[in-house]
Amino acid sequence: MSKPHASTPSHKPQQPAPRDLATSVRFLTGVGPARAEALAELGLTNIARLVTHLPFRYEWERAESPVNQLQPGVMSSARGQITATRLAGRGGRQRFEAVLMDESGRLDLVWFNQPYLKDTIVPGLRLWVQGKPVRRGGSLQMSHPFFEVLPDNEPDRRLERLRPVYPATARISSRQIQHLIEDVLPDAVAQIDDHFDEAYRRTRELPTLADAYRMMHAPASEQELADARRRLAYDELFMLQLAVHLKRAHLREHLRAPPLPSSPAVERRIRDRLPFTLTSAQQRVVREISDDLSRPTPANRLIQGDVGSGKTAVAAWAMLLAVANGHQAALMAPTEILAEQHYDAFTRLLENSRVRIALLTGALSAHEHEQLLSHLTAGEIDLLIGTHALLTERVEFASLALAVIDEQHRFGVHQRAALRAKGADEHSSPHTLVMTATPIPRTVAMTLFGDLDVSIIDELPPGRSRIATRVLPPERRDEAYAFLRDRLARGDQAYVVVPTIDSDQSSGVEAVLERLRTGALAGHRVEPMHARLPRRQREQTMADFRDGHIHCLVCTTVIEVGVDVPNATVMLIEEADRFGLAQLHQLRGRVGRGPRASACVLIADPKTPDAVERLEAMRTIADGFELAERDFQIRGPGELIGARQSGDMLLEVADLSRDLDLLKLSRADAAAWVNLSPRLDRPADALLRRRLVKKYGDALGLADVG
Ligand code: ADP
Ligand code: MG
Repeated sequence: MSKPHASTPSHKPQQPAPRDLATSVRFLTGVGPARAEALAELGLTNIARLVTHLPFRYEWERAESPVNQLQPGVMSSARGQITATRLAGRGGRQRFEAVLMDESGRLDLVWFNQPYLKDTIVPGLRLWVQGKPVRRGGSLQMSHPFFEVLPDNEPDRRLERLRPVYPATARISSRQIQHLIEDVLPDAVAQIDDHFDEAYRRTRELPTLADAYRMMHAPASEQELADARRRLAYDELFMLQLAVHLKRAHLREHLRAPPLPSSPAVERRIRDRLPFTLTSAQQRVVREISDDLSRPTPANRLIQGDVGSGKTAVAAWAMLLAVANGHQAALMAPTEILAEQHYDAFTRLLENSRVRIALLTGALSAHEHEQLLSHLTAGEIDLLIGTHALLTERVEFASLALAVIDEQHRFGVHQRAALRAKGADEHSSPHTLVMTATPIPRTVAMTLFGDLDVSIIDELPPGRSRIATRVLPPERRDEAYAFLRDRLARGDQAYVVVPTIDSDQSSGVEAVLERLRTGALAGHRVEPMHARLPRRQREQTMADFRDGHIHCLVCTTVIEVGVDVPNATVMLIEEADRFGLAQLHQLRGRVGRGPRASACVLIADPKTPDAVERLEAMRTIADGFELAERDFQIRGPGELIGARQSGDMLLEVADLSRDLDLLKLSRADAAAWVNLSPRLDRPADALLRRRLVKKYGDALGLADVG
């Protein structure tokens, strides 16, 4: 909010002295120590906080009618004067009665067990009430109506209006908050300066910030509400994009990365190593990456590609480009199994070449670990593949030019920062590529990954089969097992995914393994796979599965990401309703990787409407991006983006699933703004800058800008 300055005269003559936005709520009429404390629990300490405390919904307040026209059983409101009150009954069953009269007639009001009302509602008082009247004998009665005490000078009858409903607590109600805000609103909005000038607002059809707050708290119509929302949502999105662009400009200006130019000769050498021709989507992304990498500033790119779209080959290309330029590259995977698989794949890819590869996971012995680190520091390792173990401080590279983070489901902000710090000195940083199959809806990617460029691999390699998905209730599990047996009999392989390792449970790995070995899959080799197995056994199991010696894996979700065995064509998921949509899609992506028709069977007994919807989405939608959009609609962006990790970036007014146009507008505006004023240091930027730093300074490391 703006700096305080003299306010317009208060609208209530009995109020002392002008109040500014910083005025503590304690100075407001009707706020004693207890209420101030209740307000503080909501963060409402001063007038500025009050005015930025926004309603989370609105209710239509019914038109009022004269009491003789009230309809029994219909929610309605009326106003009049209290002419008599009475406290009846005693003990636990006290009844407070009041008579409200207007010019047309009489309405009886009654409250049970609230004897203290006798001190609030007294004869002579003018009262507004809302409730459902019932006919009692000859008269109409409302029990437990909402009520509001009317000041003497209140105009007689109000029209229908939108009443704001605020986040409130047991100690202070939405209504009480509403009254406080109504009281301060005229003074407060008169002091709200706008960080956009009139021309800027006019071309975007945005109201002033002051008007937006007024209309948000006291909308005269739904149109006003929509206008107010639009302005505040625009501001939220704009501020976020601005922060992101400033940060990026800052990094561009201050950080250097080793340029990794390409050449036809280098490209040919890399291409010759790959066992297939890149799809045109892969080629396009490779070109985008090569462009980035050829520059002396750190690339920062998100590669999105549905499961099986071939992200590894793209990563390999970039990593080999780094090695061809005499530098090192690192690939970080989310699980040991996946790191091991990548290590395997790269080893095969680089057979008989001079490129030196190493695998770093938590599973190394202390001695192996030490040796690896010293080779790395000496520059005797070209490609390092590993898990989070790569991020630890002791891992020092001779010359890290490129860091690839594979299957990054969640926010990579911290990890990217940790990897960036592995540059040669504080001013240099490796290029970073983040690969994800979790198809982040475009709106979310644009907003929250705004500091990343985005490449999309929107094409699957040729010869992929469609995956038929079925949902079966647990009673029909035998049908699924019979299907599994048929597939294995013709030489295919399968995954059976269970929700837990837990040996006590009938759906645990051991129990299911036993059931299959002695039952439906007797005669086939069925092995367990999960994170608690020793590394040796895991590696052996994965190798045997890849080579076709093992026919079926009973596993936990450890195989969720990355695992790539094209001959596996059946996936059966137990208790599928316990998994999220993104996870189910990832799991399903383990099959359908070869030319043979693949199938996914979801065994589920869904208990909630959400779960039913998720399973239906899985059954009918194959495309990961479409599924992500649906997921987004079902449960909102929160979990999807790992919102907790994103600091205080949550949007309060803007809604990424609805405000796409506004997002695009604000994004273009923010980019243009930063272009004009990369340090946000023009005098005209001062207010905007102050608000921005206040909001995002810490979360985005903006405080050090300029
Ligand atoms: P993801 O994007 O899920 O990480 P992978 O990189 O694991 O996908 O690739 C999936 C499978 O597709 C692998 O078996 C890989 O060898 C194969 N593949 C990748 N690109 C191509 C291509 N252009 N042509 C044929 N097969 C490909
Ligand atoms: Mg992968």
